[in-house]
Amino acid sequence: MISSFRTSHHVPPSVFGMEARGCPFCGSTSVAVYAGFRNHVSCMTCGADGPVGERGADPRDAVARWNSRPEVAE
Ligand SMILES: [Zn+2]
Repeated sequence: MISSFRTSHHVPPSVFGMEARGCPFCGSTSVAVYAGFRNHVSCMTCGADGPVGERGADPRDAVARWNSRPEVAE
């Protein structure tokens, strides 16, 4: 879905007074909050999307979910 990648719905996390961690997949720090129908954080470099929030959820929750990195078994 590269074609619909950069949209006006993507805004810097600082808009919400947040800082987002770098992308866990490609390491890019170019990440933006998709503040729209279902909020989530997207990596602007590789296209990875963070966990999607409930409809009408606070965009800051999306950033918090993106920033959380649970330990996973290899
Ligand atoms: Zn990435």
